[in-house]
Amino acid sequence: MALAKELKDKLLQAVDDGFDAQLEYTKNLVNLASLRGQEYAIQDLVFEQFQSRGMKVDRFDMDREAILAHPGGSPFSDSHSDAPIVVGIHHPREETGRSLILNAHLDVVPAGPGALWSDDPFSGRIDGSWMYGRGSADMKAGAAANLAAMDALRRVGLQPAATVYVQSVVEEESTGNGTLMTWLRGYTADAALIPEPTDTKLVRANVGVLWFQLKVQGVPVHVSDMGEGANAIDAAYGVIGALRGLEADWNARKDEHAQFRDLAHPINLNIGKIAGGDWASSVPAWCEIDCRISIYPGVTADEAERQIRECVAEFARNDAFLANNPPEIVINGFHAEGYVLDPDSEAETVLGRAHDAAFDAPLQAATLPGYIDTRVYALYNQIPALCYGPASRNAHGVDECVDLESLRRITKAMTLFIAEWCGTEPIESNRV
Ligand code: ZN
Repeated sequence: MALAKELKDKLLQAVDDGFDAQLEYTKNLVNLASLRGQEYAIQDLVFEQFQSRGMKVDRFDMDREAILAHPGGSPFSDSHSDAPIVVGIHHPREETGRSLILNAHLDVVPAGPGALWSDDPFSGRIDGSWMYGRGSADMKAGAAANLAAMDALRRVGLQPAATVYVQSVVEEESTGNGTLMTWLRGYTADAALIPEPTDTKLVRANVGVLWFQLKVQGVPVHVSDMGEGANAIDAAYGVIGALRGLEADWNARKDEHAQFRDLAHPINLNIGKIAGGDWASSVPAWCEIDCRISIYPGVTADEAERQIRECVAEFARNDAFLANNPPEIVINGFHAEGYVLDPDSEAETVLGRAHDAAFDAPLQAATLPGYIDTRVYALYNQIPALCYGPASRNAHGVDECVDLESLRRITKAMTLFIAEWCGTEPIESNRV
């Protein structure tokens, strides 16, 4: 049932009243450079934050065996994080509403060349309506909003009348294993919400993502005898060309996927990192390339992997040197599938009402051609999986920033959503 106007107004005001504190906490999160494998301090901070709000807190490691045995699990490379996952649990006095998962990841991607940034990449500096810093948008603003929405209820003397799990995960930027682990540990609810920076839209569909490393060999010789050697870096260029062909083939099939038809280039192959050779005057014996490619929902990661392997093998068969020395392909991160969100869920209707009240405009849905952890809830829990958050600029780029005015409204919408979805009860029991 829609919220009464009086309660709605009180909650909207409560978000405004807490917004300075919310920004302060967001800045604290941005200040912690929680790069992959370096998320211990930030997860400690989150642990304290959950505990100080009276939540029961569950802190746990990834169960590698369980993750590897699951079809949505990604392999563990040497750079996989060992930082814990932290879940804050709110139990109501009386469970009368629908339960909810609020999830956020706190791992961030590398800042890249610091000289390109206008400021320290982890400054959390506010300029006008923008907060800057690696991770500010993706997705520390959302992580703080998860708590701020719960705080807004508390500020008016209420709490959710259903169990709420606030999950703080790692490995979202590289494998998706963190959120998968929460599911494997047994967490589920009637709906899940992840406030990634989605430009205030609800994600209707997203892609799956695969990471793989190509290891190309060569034969090292002195450059004066170049014809007798084999250049691994030159060969790698050839393999990349073949993979660009596969990317073009997949993009040419976008009409088969209704949610992707209107995107100019839904499938993106990124050659993200390259290393090879030892010396300018030696023909290089090795080249390693880290790649990321996306896949349409409905395409399994195994099928995509098979096509990638076939594409590389086909190229190698027609190359004099590679035919006898085929490149090796190692899946070293994401092995994840995409999803399409069912448009008819009650959760979406409730979020639509909340958005309308906070923005004075109808909720729009959009396709996101990137990986998001909501896939775990959509594909495996099979519960309404809502990815919805603030406007931003330059995620994964230089001078990443989040729009604070949209963040304020998103937090309002989240608060109203929680209040209606979970129902509310007074914090203190009036009964004797
Ligand atoms: Zn993110």
